[in-house]
Parts: sequence; structure tokens; C-alpha cells
Amino acid sequence: MKRREITVKSILTRTGIEGFDYCINPYIGCEHGCTYCYASFMKRFTGHHEPWGMFLDAKMNGPDLLEKQLKNKREGSVLVGTVTDPYQPAEEQYRITRGCMEALKDSPLEVNILTRSPLCLRDMDIFEGFGHIEVGVSVSTDREEMRALFEPSAPSIESRVMALKTLHAKGVRTYAFIGPILPLNPSALVELLVGAVDKALIDRLNYSHKVSALYRREGLTRFLHGDYYREAARMMRAGFEEAGVPVSVLFGCDDGVGGPVNRANPMGGYL
Ligand code: SF4
Repeated sequence: MKRREITVKSILTRTGIEGFDYCINPYIGCEHGCTYCYASFMKRFTGHHEPWGMFLDAKMNGPDLLEKQLKNKREGSVLVGTVTDPYQPAEEQYRITRGCMEALKDSPLEVNILTRSPLCLRDMDIFEGFGHIEVGVSVSTDREEMRALFEPSAPSIESRVMALKTLHAKGVRTYAFIGPILPLNPSALVELLVGAVDKALIDRLNYSHKVSALYRREGLTRFLHGDYYREAARMMRAGFEEAGVPVSVLFGCDDGVGGPVNRANPMGGYL
């Protein structure tokens, strides 16, 4: 893993992601290195040649810069972590995300943060003081062996569910981002999440070419079919709705399970 400390000219940037005005990415690269990660395109824009997951640039001046950039902002919404995980292992050392959250806490912006890591619990003290914040945790399967296969450097499913439960119990608004739908047991995953989240978002795997060889090698190609995504989404939607948890399916389905196909949907294809 190659870590670098850098300074940047901007940290709060406009985004085309539907439902958000701005995004913040405290790092370039991601130590979680998920096999299917859409964000690996960042290599092209940042001059990195290392494999995705093997480099990380920490935006050291991020919090100070954000404070300045927030001065003239009167309203809007920001998604933290569109092409990196804000609570990946390096954050324990650098605390850049924490600094950004401190700056955002006193701003008028609505904040939405998405991670795969229970390290977000460290910043509970900041979340509790926020006016508008939602903390999302990506949980793409209930099966730990699938997590280990597709997200080998990311935290366990159990630790992510624990993070959601802890946040929820403290009154922080939470959501589960079930995306991409990896091989999973829909009922078991719903059961894990009910009681820990205020809502759920579900998305299919949008960039399957990145992992199709891995699916083939592991004999999992049936989990790449549109029928699998539709049925898994239908079952999870029914389970969440029965439990009174609002749920959005972010990919289009002929049978009306989801909304229209939207590549710029919140987080779809990003995390
Ligand atoms: S999917 Fe998210 S957590 Fe995984 S490598 Fe990409 S940015 Fe990091």
C-alpha cells in the first residue's frame, strides 16, 4: 500500500449525482479495494498506475479548505464518499473525514455519508450534534464468504451491521445501501438490517465486466443475471416493507420493482 500526503485546491465539489449538490472525497484511492469498484476510473485522472486498492492520497488540507469553501454556502446537500471510503483504515491515522465532519456540523448543508466501515462510530460525538445527517453503511451481502471474495480488504458484514445498530440506537438517521447485490440470501439480509436502519437502498452490480472472470472462476455466474437481481430486490423490498422500513430499488425492472434505470442515482455504481 502506497500512502501519500497531498494538498488540494478544492474539497467541496459540484456533483451530478441525483439528489445532491456537492460531494466530498477526503482521499484519492481506497484501501478497501473492492473487486467490482466503479471508482477505479479515478486512476486515469490522478496519474496512478498502481492496482486499485494499492494507493492512497490523503488530502491533508481538506478540513481547513472545507471551512473556507463553506463560508458562502447557504443551502444544499452533500454526499461524502462518492469515489472513496471516508472511513477506510487510513482515516484512523489522518482524521481528515473527522475534520470535514466538524466543519460540516455548523454549516447549513444536509450531509449524507456512506461507508463500509465501523470506524464511523468514532465520530458519533459529531454526528449527534448535527442538524441534518444520514449515515449509510454499504452491506452488499449477508454471506461473509462472499464479502471476503469480493471485498477482501473491507470490514466484516457483522461489524457493519453492528455499526448501523449502534448509530440507530443513538438516534442518528441510518440507511443500508445494499449495493451491489452480491450473491446473498435476501430474507437473511433483511432480517439482519431491520431494526438498524431508517431506510434501505438497493442496487444491482452495474459494472459486471470488472468481476465477470471472478464470478466464472467461482461458479457464480447465475448471480450475474438480470432475473437474479430482480428476484433478490423483489424479496428484499417485500421484507423491508413488511417491517415498515422504506425501501428504494435503484435499478429499472420490467416488473415494476424499481424505478427507471439511472446511472447517476445516489451511490449507484459509486460505492
Ligand atoms: S466500493 Fe467503495 S469501499 Fe469499495 S473500493 Fe470502491 S470506494 Fe472503496
